Amino acid sequence: MISGFVLCSLIGYYLLDTLAKLLNLRNLETRVPSEFSDVYDENRYRRSQGYTRTNTWCELVASTTMLASLLAFWFLGGFEGLDLLIRGLKLPNTFAGLLYLGALCVARELLLLPFAIYHTFVIEQRYGFNRTTAGTFIVDRLKEWCISGLLLGGFVLIVLTLFASFGLRAWIIAWISTAAVSVILMYLAPKIILPLFFKFSPVPAGNLREQVTEFCFRQRFPIRELSVIDGSRRSSKANAFFTGFGSNKRIALYDTLINNHTVPELLAVLAHEIGHFKKHHIIQHFIFGQLNLFLLFLGASFCISRPELFKAFGVTTASYYAGLTLYGISIRPVAVLLGILANFWSRKHEFEADRFAAETLGDPNPLIQALKRLSKDSLSNLTPHPLLVGLHFTHPPVLARVLALRNLSGQLKPGDEA
Ligand SMILES: [Zn+2]
Repeated sequence: MISGFVLCSLIGYYLLDTLAKLLNLRNLETRVPSEFSDVYDENRYRRSQGYTRTNTWCELVASTTMLASLLAFWFLGGFEGLDLLIRGLKLPNTFAGLLYLGALCVARELLLLPFAIYHTFVIEQRYGFNRTTAGTFIVDRLKEWCISGLLLGGFVLIVLTLFASFGLRAWIIAWISTAAVSVILMYLAPKIILPLFFKFSPVPAGNLREQVTEFCFRQRFPIRELSVIDGSRRSSKANAFFTGFGSNKRIALYDTLINNHTVPELLAVLAHEIGHFKKHHIIQHFIFGQLNLFLLFLGASFCISRPELFKAFGVTTASYYAGLTLYGISIRPVAVLLGILANFWSRKHEFEADRFAAETLGDPNPLIQALKRLSKDSLSNLTPHPLLVGLHFTHPPVLARVLALRNLSGQLKPGDEA
């Protein structure tokens, strides 16, 4: 019963995702949408479509490999085999659990690694985005694995210890501890984790710095730091983000963004980021994430010790760690639905932040120009299929954003355009 449900949901999601990707390929328009005719020439537009096509096929091979490997592992008795192997080591239960989950994560990473290498050194290279050397790539991966190993390892250790001490009632303490850890991480990430990957330096004095400082002052948005980071060491793609909260806000701009955009465009991009803060999007997403975790842990307390769950995956000895692993695979449909909901919500927030930028600057045009240039520079797909957007996009298609901003033009008072 459970195995049938899990099998159907895994295959069902795979088919839906594949369908969305194929429809997306069919949706590629051969002619440049008129809104973009000033930034795209025919040649560059064809390139952007080639980029979408190549990426899509790479993703399809990856998702097929991952699903096939999971099903093969499952039906060849992998979950039981691994458990027997680890039980043979006679470790304390919590460490056995750490090893069990660790081994599965390592296997997953190793399966994904060839695709990451192909993506960076073949696709991104062919389209002129890649600036990562093999050395940087290897060091980045090692750092990522160490950090996520430490974080996930710590997390699993806490959760398994709680379950071992308090039984199924541990779910509520596990949830509270997880929430506490994620708040701490939100504080620490910009200070400790990001600098491991990027070099932060202050934006030099000049027009950009003055205008940003003035804008932040006018919006009563205290920033502690305005930095530029060396994104160009890895990729020619541009980005901006801002981190921290309270009086500890830091804005970081990729050097690639600063180099390719005018000061009014940069200001518009920043105003958009500040809009997310002013409209309380960041805190809302955080609360939504914590509610998600609450539901996951609550569900876990009902499911992870059920004999049916272990039977479905051919595991003969019940344990909290195997229960959590199998539960994680079984609730995939719930996670997918929550993800679709979160993406929908996030797209709505993007429109709101765009609107904030246009209103505070009194002119939507700098943001429109910035969005168009960003999408040209990253060869983004201008006509994604709605099914793909619904499933995966955290940002609305750029054409929809530009049109929404154009609609605002008429509504902004001329007096605002000072
Ligand atoms: Zn945004």
